[in-house]
Amino acid sequence: MIKSYLATDIGHVRKDNEDASAILPRHAFVVADGMGGHAGGGTASQILVHSVRQYIDDFGDRALQEDDLAQAILAANRDILATAFEKPALRGMGTTAVLLALDKEKARWAHVGDSRLYLLRAGKLRQVTRDHSLVEELVCNGTITEEEARVHPRKNILTRAVGVEVAPKVDSGSFALADGDRFLLCTDGLTNMVEDVEIQNLMQNTGDVAHALVQKALAAGGHDNVTALVVAIDGA
Ligand code: CA
Repeated sequence: MIKSYLATDIGHVRKDNEDASAILPRHAFVVADGMGGHAGGGTASQILVHSVRQYIDDFGDRALQEDDLAQAILAANRDILATAFEKPALRGMGTTAVLLALDKEKARWAHVGDSRLYLLRAGKLRQVTRDHSLVEELVCNGTITEEEARVHPRKNILTRAVGVEVAPKVDSGSFALADGDRFLLCTDGLTNMVEDVEIQNLMQNTGDVAHALVQKALAAGGHDNVTALVVAIDGA
């Protein structure tokens, strides 16, 4: 049995919630974090969720594979570019994307940007995706530490996003499910405000963990829009 919980909040600072998210058919899940001036960011993330939903709706009976999730993101990429072309005020908008799809045996995921997928297994939280951000590159090449990355002044700079170039590179992967697995898809409004160890602690609880995670981010300051989508395999 698969249970899912979705929570989002504008936060205490921003005027709009530019995060978008959905629990989709076929045990698929999506979270997006829009960027770009004026209404652009919120438009890009909403187009992404809409396009991904349409892609999955139109998919037929074949099981969703890893590459299908990447293709869904690329379809959204085309839709965002087309909208920006038609409406000059929206040019420069873009969005992150993280997708998860589950069947009886496997988890499959795809992502672009710094929205994240985490897996809680046997009580331990593991970050499945690696951010496409400047600070992640600086951590990888040893220029700065993980601790320095958390407070880096340019931590918002993404190295990849959806809707800003013709063919963005999409990362994807898959792995076998284990009983009791729990997944978290979230935006940086959560991970910038709440440490991984606190996320791990909250993820052990049953019930609407997504709401609890968002409340934690708000209590910590809520500097950004915050979205958490939690998927539990055991139905807890
Ligand atoms: Ca954000």
